[in-house]
Amino acid sequence: MIECYCRGVHGCGDPLCGQCRELLDYATTRLERCRFGGAKPVCANCPVHCYQARMRDEIKRVMRYAGPRMLWRHPILTLRHFLDSRRPVPAITR
Ligand code: SF4
Ligand SMILES: [Zn+2]
Repeated sequence: MIECYCRGVHGCGDPLCGQCRELLDYATTRLERCRFGGAKPVCANCPVHCYQARMRDEIKRVMRYAGPRMLWRHPILTLRHFLDSRRPVPAITR
């Protein structure tokens, strides 16, 4: 999704521009450290929201742009994300 956004908005994509590279690295680190592990909900439904405010705004911008476009380019991935978004959110235990 970040690549799609970077290509359409920043005219880069592969490789990503510096701003999108930073966002991807940040999102990857958050994912690796996600407290929910394998039961991770989609971040949009998360009761914790571990992202810094600036990064959260940036990823929302990416999602708004790339979400509808992903439906046409990667319909299976989009369907999987949709199904994931309907899974119950795990309770916070720590
Ligand atoms: S926002 Fe929530 S689901 Fe997403 S990585 Fe952070 S803790 Fe995990
Ligand atoms: Zn970019």
